[in-house]
Amino acid sequence: MQHYATTFLFIHEVSHIFGCAHDLHQLRGRGKTPPYPWGVGSFLEGTNKRTLMAYRREGFERKIGYLSGPGVRDQAGDETGGEEENNVR
Ligand SMILES: [Zn+2]
Repeated sequence: MQHYATTFLFIHEVSHIFGCAHDLHQLRGRGKTPPYPWGVGSFLEGTNKRTLMAYRREGFERKIGYLSGPGVRDQAGDETGGEEENNVR
């Protein structure tokens, strides 16, 4: 478990260097906009999962090892993003 946490943190921080931001929920709550409008993490509605860049939020406690993107699916087959939440673009 510790290995995953360290790996997730590393990918998260490297993604920041490439211009990825956290998520629209967190940014809007702080009155901020992301460097790239689409470059944000996502919360997988209907699940308790969030992508690597999304901040912890009630109901989405489980961080998965994926960046958001249309057509990007996790191991359960859940799509991790769309055009507006697209860290892989
Ligand atoms: Zn961060």
